[in-house]
Amino acid sequence: MSASPSPVWHAFTQHGLGEEIPLIDRAAGATLYGADGRAWIDAISSWWVITHGHCEPRIQAAIRAQTDRLDQLIFAGWTHEPAETLARGLIAMAPAGLAHVFFSDSGSTSVEVALKMALGYWLNRGEPRHRILVLEHGYHGDTIGAMSVGERGVYNRAYQPLLFDVGTIPFPAEGREQATLDALEAACRGADRPAAFILEPLVLGAGGMMMYGPQVLAAMRAICAAHGVLFILDEVMTGWGRTGTTFACDQAGIAPDILCLSKGLTGGALPLAATLATPAIFEAHLSPDRGRMFFHSSSYTANPVACAAANANLAIWREEPVADRIAALAAMQAERLAALDGRGRIRAKRRTGTIAAMEFVEEGSDYLSAIGPRLNAFFRDRGLLLRPMGNVVYILPPYCITAGELDRIYTAIEEAAEWIGRE
Ligand code: PLP
Repeated sequence: MSASPSPVWHAFTQHGLGEEIPLIDRAAGATLYGADGRAWIDAISSWWVITHGHCEPRIQAAIRAQTDRLDQLIFAGWTHEPAETLARGLIAMAPAGLAHVFFSDSGSTSVEVALKMALGYWLNRGEPRHRILVLEHGYHGDTIGAMSVGERGVYNRAYQPLLFDVGTIPFPAEGREQATLDALEAACRGADRPAAFILEPLVLGAGGMMMYGPQVLAAMRAICAAHGVLFILDEVMTGWGRTGTTFACDQAGIAPDILCLSKGLTGGALPLAATLATPAIFEAHLSPDRGRMFFHSSSYTANPVACAAANANLAIWREEPVADRIAALAAMQAERLAALDGRGRIRAKRRTGTIAAMEFVEEGSDYLSAIGPRLNAFFRDRGLLLRPMGNVVYILPPYCITAGELDRIYTAIEEAAEWIGRE
């Protein structure tokens, strides 16, 4: 008797047209184990969330202990120890100047919160501003506000009539950094004063793992500071060591006015997000008549179990040689990426910290072209979760990955470079 088709509707997937959906039963370290006995190396950290490894024992223990103690609490005027400890821990790790932490539950909501904080700040100061500047090719999530500040394209074609207008600053491609800075300067000086500039620092993830350097990031920060435009960094993907430092902005020696964190905040074990803000932004939301308070919440804001997982993650960062693991992984990625030189269809190799990316070139290889699913299936059949974005193949593994596992990933990429176009 054949099983009836699954009613589950997956994101970014055409399983209704027959794409295979592996059924995963458990995971440990960098490995996913299928219900049918197969195994896969998780080369993209299950959409960039797993940092130390799947089912990391300290994080799992913290989750178990908290589950028995306090499962959930309204987080408006009531509080709990895991959230208090986490907020203090985040402030201690984050760039200087951020002093307040607003919890939510996904990267997208951390961005919505950031945008609302920025607009609230200006309105409450009696100087309403609505214009948001964004960086070309950015991605900040799939809710309406987050899509509005992201690149317009196939991701959001159906929803574009709902998205609000933004000012787009050109991506600082190598050699074109000055054009970016000039455009930002002009936008900040414009008559329609921007409320904020939101961007991903150093690596634009879902935009195709596009990378730029810390100097231009520092220069963009300086321009916004000079013009009183709030600087919002979305470190949902780049945070927690991916770019080689705890936060990408550490490499530029800068601090934003608002910082968005999620994904690796719990080591990837549970959904949680945090939006950190300066005292000026927090204080602008205080008024005795309550009219200025921050009007945003969601039911699971600061869930205690997720906060406990995040506290265990922060303890790992404080007590274990995480920076050494990251440096070792970055060095392995650099070596293996360099060894791909001259391989058939591979172009535009790039790396920042632990993230390596490259493009597989063929006719018309954009996001929707068939090359993505073909490569996805090729890697899946070789025991790898290495799901390309269009024709961009990237390796963004958990920090526990071994040299042997990385070797399997790069060997498969080399085989794919020979195979693609000849299938
Ligand atoms: N911001 C960035 C930079 C991201 O990479 C993502 C997700 O990939 C998001 C926001 C949205 O996060 P979530 O999928 O948790 O809503």
